[in-house]
Amino acid sequence: MSIALMITDRQLEPLVNALSAQLPNENIKVWPDVEFDESVEFVIAWRYPKNMWQMFPNLKVVSSLGAGVDELIKDELRPQHIKLTRIVDSDLSNQMAQYCLTVLLMYQSRMHEYQHAQVKKQWRYFPKRESHKVTVLGAGEIGLVVAKKLHLNGFEVNSWSQSSKNETFISQSFTTKNELYKSVAEADFVISILPSTPETDNLINIELLKAMPKHAVIINTGRGNVVNESDLATALTEGIIGGATLDVFKQEPLPDEHVFWNVPNLQITPHISAISSQSKVVDQIVENYQLFRHGKSLKHQVDVNKGY
Ligand code: NAP
Repeated sequence: MSIALMITDRQLEPLVNALSAQLPNENIKVWPDVEFDESVEFVIAWRYPKNMWQMFPNLKVVSSLGAGVDELIKDELRPQHIKLTRIVDSDLSNQMAQYCLTVLLMYQSRMHEYQHAQVKKQWRYFPKRESHKVTVLGAGEIGLVVAKKLHLNGFEVNSWSQSSKNETFISQSFTTKNELYKSVAEADFVISILPSTPETDNLINIELLKAMPKHAVIINTGRGNVVNESDLATALTEGIIGGATLDVFKQEPLPDEHVFWNVPNLQITPHISAISSQSKVVDQIVENYQLFRHGKSLKHQVDVNKGY
């Protein structure tokens, strides 16, 4: 049996070394030095070549290198019987929580405005904002950790997700499309940590933006498909909402000609809000590989019918 790493967009040496150290007797193949191979049953994939499915006729499990599995779920060539797993990592959730808290404190203390004033050599005082109401869209593995961290730092946190949440750190748990508008109506901050699915496409559009308070700030760390980008550009330019911090986009890297580069009150980070640590990822993948070899249930298997 062999393992293949089908990952096209990063330096793989550390991952290969860590896997080889933990699985010294396994045959590990690495893209692009792979070809049609009947021995491959387990693949680790991220931004993978789309002919992968034909290359490995005996493939049984694909482990996503990250928390997101939208690329795999949306792939129409993917044979249905193949099991998909994803990374669930407390370190990833903590990084995302830290990122969100940093952004919220920056807006509260108006640090970005001091930065602009400094560029113009202005000695100005900006009163601290009292804003503290947060709505987290997508209260899953990561969203719940973010919600808890914000609650512990004095924010009042509501959530919106498919299923209702009963957590002491969540004031109100909203579900269904009807409640989406209610969930953001009083929010000072709306944080999206939703996955990319057909249902979340362009969910944050002009109607939803108009349903938020005028001073509300949007933070998107989930997936870029969730934001209707031209609607958000309009909302920021026309002052329909107060600001936005985006870590994910429909196209990444964000193209030079994209309208977002010149939109006011928009802060851009290059998909860095949570970066998986290779050592933690390797531990989880190796554990799943051993479970697979012993015919046991896999950890963090994705329910393909649910779509995320
Ligand atoms: P998860 O555990 O699957 O949680 C997804 C959450 O979204 C759940 O609360 C789910 O509701 C909710 N949801 C999904 N579809 C919905 C819909 N149509 N309507 C309402 N709620 C919906 O995923 P996770 O591990 O927290 O990760 C979330 C996403 O973060 C990933 O998919 C990935 O795209 C992104 N991510 C980004 C970065 C980055 O660096 N920017 C890093 C890691 C992950 P239920 O709770 O009811 O199921």
